[in-house]
Amino acid sequence: MAAIFRSIPRAFRGYLCAPVPLSARKFSQITDENRTLAGKVAVVTGSTRGIGFAIARRMARDGAHVVISSRKQENVKEAVDILKEEGLSVTGTVCHVGKAEDRQHLVTTALKHSGGIDFLVCVAGVNPLVGSTLGASEQIWDKILDVNVKSPALLLSQVLPHMETRGGGCVVLVSSAVAYVPVPRLGVYNTSKTALLGLCKSLAVELAPKGIRVNCLAPGIIKTDFSLREETMPNMLPELKKVFGVQRLGEPEECAGLVSFLCSSDGSYITGENIVVGGFSPKL
Ligand code: NAP
Repeated sequence: MAAIFRSIPRAFRGYLCAPVPLSARKFSQITDENRTLAGKVAVVTGSTRGIGFAIARRMARDGAHVVISSRKQENVKEAVDILKEEGLSVTGTVCHVGKAEDRQHLVTTALKHSGGIDFLVCVAGVNPLVGSTLGASEQIWDKILDVNVKSPALLLSQVLPHMETRGGGCVVLVSSAVAYVPVPRLGVYNTSKTALLGLCKSLAVELAPKGIRVNCLAPGIIKTDFSLREETMPNMLPELKKVFGVQRLGEPEECAGLVSFLCSSDGSYITGENIVVGGFSPKL
């Protein structure tokens, strides 16, 4: 048996660390203390609307203290007010993920209000171009790659020491099914979302020895402002119906449970996974 483990490359051994004791998994009545994310702190970017908001709400319902954020103060206030009204434990701050000073402020705020960070969920993403990939300006490339790909890595580098202080953590990136099935006229966005699949794998291997798991949610078409606007996401449902038999758009809440599960102890042996929630699977 020992020989089998010796044959596992060093970088992968971290996956095998920190097993969850069976006693922690026993069935019991759900109270505030034993909700799956009780006592944990989650930072969620792009969480004042759509998929991010549904994830924030679900994680808070599952017991985490959630730090809400997005670019606009009025959106942050509205989201925080709604969730507090529901009796959930949340705070909020402005954070444009493409701005270094905002990322730092988000981390500082989370630490000030919550004393630590266990989970980072990077939902914020943009698509300012529906058009030819090769016709995209350098400015468009920079904006999409900065917000969608670089910012999760840069934010995580600021969060990392604090997750280490807690003895581990969990990160969820948000890619898209277009990472697997490129949609015409969304080439730069498709590319950014495919890059996230690779980022997830690389970070999972790199951070496993620190007890930090990294996974990636790849939504299909989910009913949000983003997908319903023709200038950010052309209607793909007819094509998906033809090829994959998809009959309807998804709801933001249908993405949220997976994220909460991945962050919980039930997901403790899962890292480096890119998981599609899209009413179909474009993966082998
Ligand atoms: P949405 O409903 O438009 O919500 C976007 C959220 O992100 C808002 O809270 C917005 O608030 C915030 N935001 C936008 N740009 C930001 C930035 N630079 N920094 C920080 N926050 C920012 O969008 P969604 O459909 O939920 O999409 C969320 C993520 O899922 C994106 O990464 C998207 O690529 C991905 N996705 C969506 C679909 C879909 O069909 N909807 C499918 C696959 C993947 P402010 O305006 O206040 O900043």
